[in-house]
Amino acid sequence: DVPVGNWYCPPCCCSVCSRNTLDETDRRNIDPSVLICTQCERRYHADCILQSGKMNPYRNPDGEWLCRDSCQQIHSGLMKILGKPVSLGAQNLRWTLLKYKKSDSFSDDPETCSKLSTSLSVMHECFEPVRELRTGRDLVDDVIFNRSSKLHRLNFRGFYTVVLENDDDLISVATLRIHGERVAEVPLVATRFRFRRLGMCRILMDELEKRLTELGVERLVLPAAPSVLNTWTDSFGFSVTNPTERLLFIGHTFLDFQGTVFCHKMLIGNDSASA
Ligand SMILES: [Zn+2]
Ligand SMILES: [Zn+2]
Ligand SMILES: [Zn+2]
Repeated sequence: DVPVGNWYCPPCCCSVCSRNTLDETDRRNIDPSVLICTQCERRYHADCILQSGKMNPYRNPDGEWLCRDSCQQIHSGLMKILGKPVSLGAQNLRWTLLKYKKSDSFSDDPETCSKLSTSLSVMHECFEPVRELRTGRDLVDDVIFNRSSKLHRLNFRGFYTVVLENDDDLISVATLRIHGERVAEVPLVATRFRFRRLGMCRILMDELEKRLTELGVERLVLPAAPSVLNTWTDSFGFSVTNPTERLLFIGHTFLDFQGTVFCHKMLIGNDSASA
C-alpha cells in the first residue's frame, strides 16, 4: 500500500536529505540540477552535495558523476575492461564486458553492436520474449540495449552484457547491473542450446563473481525461475532470500519476473566461496 500524502519511493529521493528530487515547476521530471550517480543511480540535490562539503559536485567531461569512492572504484574498474576480451586459456574461451552506447551506430562500433544482437538471440533461445504489460515491449531487448525510462522499474540504463565466446561462437550471455558496493544483479543468464551441460554457465559465473569481488561488490542477486531454482541453490551457492534479508535491499529496484524466486549470494566474507 502506498501511504497517502506527499510520498516518494526511496530511489526518487535525495540520498542526503531524503526529500524528493522532482522539478518544482514540472513534477513529472527530475530537477535538472539534481546529480545522479552513474554507477549506483542514487540521486542528490546539488545544494545537499555542496553543504555536505565531502562530495565532488562536478560531472566529468562525459557528463558522468560518481557519488562516492566505492562507486568511482567500481566504475573505473568496469571501464578498464569494457569491450576488451579477457582470455581464459582453456578451449580458446574468452569473456567480454559490453555496453550499448546511445551514440553507437552500427558504423561506430560494429563489433559491439553485432555481439549485442547475437546476445539477444541467445537470450531468445532460452527465454520467451518477456513483454512489459503496459507498453508491450520486449524487456530482454530493452535490457541489452539499455533503454532508459523515468520509471525505475523500466529504466535499464545501468545494465552491462557479459559474453563468453570461443573462436567461432558466442556461447553464454549474462546481463549485469551493479548497484554500488552493496549489491549487483544478474537477472538473465543464457547458454546456447548446443553448448548446454558443458559447464559454460559455470565458467562465466565464476569469472563474473571473481571480478565483482575484486571490485568490492558484496552480494549478487538474481530472480530464479522455479525450474532452475535448485541449480542456483545447489550448484551455484545461492540462497532463497527471506523477507528479513530482503529488507537489506530496500531502495534498490531489481529486474524481476512473474513467478521467479529472489535469490542472493554473498561474495565477500563468504567462507565457502574460497573453499
Ligand atoms: Zn520513485
Ligand atoms: Zn537533498
Ligand atoms: Zn554512487
